[in-house]
Amino acid sequence: MNFKDRVVLVTGASRGIGRAIAQAFAQHGAKVAVHYHRDIGMAEKTMNVLPGGPHQLFCCDVSDPNEGQSLIEDILKKFGRLDVLVNNAGIFKAHPIQKVSYEQWLEDWQRTLATNLVGPANLIYWASQHMIKQGGGRIVNISSRGAFRGEPEAPAYGASKSGLNALSQSLAQALAPHNIFITVVAPGFVETEMARELLSGPDGEKIKRQSPLGRVARPEEVARTVLFLASEGSDYLTGAIVDVNGASYLRS
Ligand code: NDP
Repeated sequence: MNFKDRVVLVTGASRGIGRAIAQAFAQHGAKVAVHYHRDIGMAEKTMNVLPGGPHQLFCCDVSDPNEGQSLIEDILKKFGRLDVLVNNAGIFKAHPIQKVSYEQWLEDWQRTLATNLVGPANLIYWASQHMIKQGGGRIVNISSRGAFRGEPEAPAYGASKSGLNALSQSLAQALAPHNIFITVVAPGFVETEMARELLSGPDGEKIKRQSPLGRVARPEEVARTVLFLASEGSDYLTGAIVDVNGASYLRS
């Protein structure tokens, strides 16, 4: 896979899966727009492990509808083009229906949908305006196994990721005539900060046994899949949702 001179935006690249995706693209020659929200220290650590370049840091809150346009414009000012958008930034917040107040419920729904669903939709809107003029591009959205199985403790998260799947399928059809190809990666549990509490808690071992491999995914395994989907020759995968869950979905 060769991404030489390709410009790739990875949202939520300050840590976890996003950092691994940024690293994988940089290792294959891409110039990476490393996006973060709050944690500039961690985002700088990502920059320090990227080979090649030039790469650059960009900050924005993807849940704010006014920030997506300037993020894409800033990237175009710096690099002059945008070839790949990876919508990876996301949040997971538990809000069990039987335990939270209605105010909390509302807040968690709004924040989760704004970050995990509407944010990616807005970035696709602005990126695709440019990709259409440029003659094409690729978009990979990071969903979740929870989109298919539901998330009893975090229903807004499950709904946001199901919505992301449907958004991707809809826009894969709308944008294919412009050579813009959209795919989805749906991981099961991955060893990152987001899953740390659950994996190190009393259910950690049980979660690992959900897969016949006896472990959860490593961020690099998700990154490799993203690279493949964003590479030349994968056009006909547009609209596909690729599971990266170590057969755990088949087990329980
Ligand atoms: P982490 O919690 O480790 O990292 C989340 C990233 O998203 C950070 O870079 C954070 O930026 C960024 N982010 C959060 N909120 C915002 C916001 N409002 N605006 C912009 N950026 C934001 O997550 P993971 O690496 O584990 O997950 C990455 C993706 O993979 C997510 O979409 C997640 O839903 C999905 N996923 C993860 C699984 C897992 O088990 N870990 C399983 C299935 C899917 P900053 O730190 O700078 O604030």
